Amino acid sequence: MHVDVRTQDGTRLGRVEIDQATRPIRVRPSDADRDIFLEWDNATDDAGHLRACITCGDHHLYRSRSLPQVTPFVALIALAGATVSLLGFATSPWILSLLVVVLVIDIGVLVFARTRLVCYRCGSMYGNLPIARYHRSWDPSVAERISNDTHTPAISKRLDRHDREGSS
Ligand SMILES: [Zn+2]
Repeated sequence: MHVDVRTQDGTRLGRVEIDQATRPIRVRPSDADRDIFLEWDNATDDAGHLRACITCGDHHLYRSRSLPQVTPFVALIALAGATVSLLGFATSPWILSLLVVVLVIDIGVLVFARTRLVCYRCGSMYGNLPIARYHRSWDPSVAERISNDTHTPAISKRLDRHDREGSS
């Protein structure tokens, strides 16, 4: 899987490729100046699916679809196409072929969109991995609960440990 790592304050540290089979305990994302420690304890379920964030240890993840960058462009053309059809020009072969192209791109977007897991707490994104069914999409009530309790003792303890290990 690949991980777009973020720190607790939301700083992007870049992408890193992680082999779930070997479970590395420290990695160096592309934009980070020091190693990141990964927490694998209880991070996967019995089936080997990721169920917790391995960079901050939080157990709240949501699924999100990565849409290719063409999406706004496609939406614009589709809107233009619909407007033109409403105005009665839909019989023009040009317009019809344009609408077909938009349809094809639309389907392509759906096919190529990948589902990712995102951590509520730190925003790290996990892609290219099997995702368990019990992960839901983003939920504002969970997000609010997480932001209200960002500094739980367990988390700060682990960060302390990471800092010590990082400096040794
Ligand atoms: Zn996290």
